[in-house]
Amino acid sequence: MRYREVGNTGRKASIIGLGCEHLDKKPYEQVKETIDAALESNINLLDVFMPGKEVREYIAKALGPRRKDVMIQGHIGSTNLNQQYDISRDLPTVKRFFEDLLRIFGYIDFGMMFFIDSEEDYKGVFETGFIDYVLKLKQDGDIHHIGFSSHNPLTAMRVINTGIPEMMLFSINPAFDMLPSSEYVFDHVDKDFGKGLFRGIDPKRGELYKLCQKKEIGITVMKTLGAGKLISLEHSPFEKPLTVGQCIHYALTRPAVSSVMLGCQSRSEVLDAVRYLEMGDEELDYTEVLKSLRNDFHGNCVYCGHCQPCPVDIDIATVNKYLDIARLDPEHVPSMTKTHYRGLAVSGKDCIACGNCLVRCPFGVPIIQNMAEAEELLR
Ligand code: SF4
Ligand code: SF4
Repeated sequence: MRYREVGNTGRKASIIGLGCEHLDKKPYEQVKETIDAALESNINLLDVFMPGKEVREYIAKALGPRRKDVMIQGHIGSTNLNQQYDISRDLPTVKRFFEDLLRIFGYIDFGMMFFIDSEEDYKGVFETGFIDYVLKLKQDGDIHHIGFSSHNPLTAMRVINTGIPEMMLFSINPAFDMLPSSEYVFDHVDKDFGKGLFRGIDPKRGELYKLCQKKEIGITVMKTLGAGKLISLEHSPFEKPLTVGQCIHYALTRPAVSSVMLGCQSRSEVLDAVRYLEMGDEELDYTEVLKSLRNDFHGNCVYCGHCQPCPVDIDIATVNKYLDIARLDPEHVPSMTKTHYRGLAVSGKDCIACGNCLVRCPFGVPIIQNMAEAEELLR
């Protein structure tokens, strides 16, 4: 397993995490088998959004004393009303469900403000007692870090700019990234993606990733496979389907991403998910599929790493990520970004302009110019 820092929290998450939603309403033996396989694979991050008492208790029982070996993303505001899962901002209801989660797991590592997508969601969290409750949970040590979940880049940026959350669960896959932010991703989950909508990576989503990197907000990822549509020839907006490994790799190569949560419901599904770790660069390369949409990425780095190897060992995608942050406001480049850039063993200044990378970059990024610009803005 490989691990990454979750933003600035000081916690390290396995790059593959377990989304537990498919364990809901499953028998205990199946829950146990799946949790055992995850822990044996050294997965240390579990997402438990489901408000159902039984599934929460089964997961806790399956973990037993190994609870301390994993981190749990537990959601505040995820409730079960009238026998249906629902979002609630009604404080007594929110407390009832979250305090049950605390009772079962003892503490929650990442207390996630659940599902903040719309203006109404934002107001329901930040203009009511909800946010005071969340801050109190942190103050009391019941949750160790504050996070939130969202599917909307504009709202997510607003939430991050409150300065309260330390991390975020966000839906990331190539189709969602290319959907204009004026479209709501859930409108496309139940029906196909309309191909005419796509015009390259949506600038607002790009901005969100850069904001997360700048403010050191760790991202954990949901909807990696776009509800399965991206791996289906029939439903994909691309000319060919992506593989599961390519979808995971796409999410893990976005800026600020720490971990991809995969919904597994058996030992074999966990083992399939972690097979990602054994895959080679060729198998994980998603660029050909992305290009089959349209080549609107021209000149923009998508951080795919296809340009490597560089003869002087510059990590070109990483330099481009820092450069993209610097370009947001060249007069006020965040000192942390400069520190990260200066910490690279080799960087823009080492480019010998051999041009090897230019031939390999599928998106026509002016890499030699970028290396020089990075040096100018970040040194
Ligand atoms: S042009 Fe620069 S960045 Fe590209 S491969 Fe050569 S040395 Fe590396
Ligand atoms: S420069 Fe091109 S090949 Fe390299 S990471 Fe960026 S998009 Fe990919």
